[in-house]
Amino acid sequence: MIPFNKPYLTGKEAHYIYQAVFTGKISGNGVFTKKCHSFFEQHYGFNKCLLTTSCTDALEMAAILIDTQPGDEIIMPSYTFVSTANAFVLRGAKIIFCDSMENHPNIDAEKIEALITPKTKAIVPVHYAGFACDMDKIMGMAEKYNLFVVEDAAQAVDNYYIGKDGTKRALGSIGHLGAFSFHETKNIISGEGGMLVVNDRQFEQRAEIIWEKGTNRSAFFRGETDKYGWVDVGSSFLPSEVIAAFLWAQLENLEDIQKKRIKIWQTYYERLKDFAVANEIALPVKPHYSTNNAHMFYLVCKDVEQRSKLIAYLKSKDILSVFHYLSLHSSPYYKNKHDGRSLSQSDRYTDTLVRLPFYYELTDTDMQTIINEIKQSLA
Ligand SMILES: *Cc1c(COP(=O)(O)O)cnc(C)c1O
Repeated sequence: MIPFNKPYLTGKEAHYIYQAVFTGKISGNGVFTKKCHSFFEQHYGFNKCLLTTSCTDALEMAAILIDTQPGDEIIMPSYTFVSTANAFVLRGAKIIFCDSMENHPNIDAEKIEALITPKTKAIVPVHYAGFACDMDKIMGMAEKYNLFVVEDAAQAVDNYYIGKDGTKRALGSIGHLGAFSFHETKNIISGEGGMLVVNDRQFEQRAEIIWEKGTNRSAFFRGETDKYGWVDVGSSFLPSEVIAAFLWAQLENLEDIQKKRIKIWQTYYERLKDFAVANEIALPVKPHYSTNNAHMFYLVCKDVEQRSKLIAYLKSKDILSVFHYLSLHSSPYYKNKHDGRSLSQSDRYTDTLVRLPFYYELTDTDMQTIINEIKQSLA
């Protein structure tokens, strides 16, 4: 059987977990957490990083930090994971869903401005499959209308936005806040795990307080205050050192992991591109303003029947492929709250996108088997 995903272990995870356990500091914000924070801050120019127990939690922190109030409107793609929306819905916000681009599942930046009203508080671009959204356009709009930008960079670790002048900026470092995931289906993992990136300095201090259950405990341990107590709202957003130790092993091997994943991505692409053109199947498109972090490989089928047939055929050959997301604007939870606008591209990806097996240990032989079976099924 060829699985859809197989979490990759570098070999050092258990070793660092052992260290974390036996140094006696197992709760959060210890040595491994700090190592992870400075790795990200140094490698990607993130202003301040805070590990969280998930990207879902990082998004919830972002929603608190921008002071989301009942009735606020938050613009985001409909073609995304539920957590992108839930974080803001939990604070009473109304989600204004924007369509995807015709050639890419990412939010269509050209369509955002028409959705902005006096109630709009933030734009939440999701870098789908790790590919950058049109950040110059989105940040320009945010500046013009005085909005916050929270990047859902769950899939975008080690990827970059290329500006008009050719300069590269790490995804997650561009918006006021950014959220990453280290769930076992992502490039860099810790089982469950995530990170909030605080780029706008006005949020630095409060982010740390919300992270530590609404207390000024972090400042207390740095000796900046002589007592610590309840100073704001908050929750337990920080992961234990056991999680951070696992993540640290992965970060030490980030370059190797990324090299391998990029090779897998390119192999799929090279071996499928002619077949795709001949059979009107779309392969992932890398926007000119994005680099590629090889988070996933997907096909966009002609219609839902073709996709169902492909997934079933691959399954009969013991190959697991999966589809996602069901457009949030037509979900059982949100469809009655949505304003009724049709989002045709989002619905099209819901019906036609299929993700192929993608993991570090995927062999060339298995990849060739997958490719042959795809051709058998679709030709
Ligand atoms: C994986 C993912 C999330 C959620 O990440 P968790 O760490 O599982 O909470 C949110 N948004 C997007 C786009 C994702 O891919």
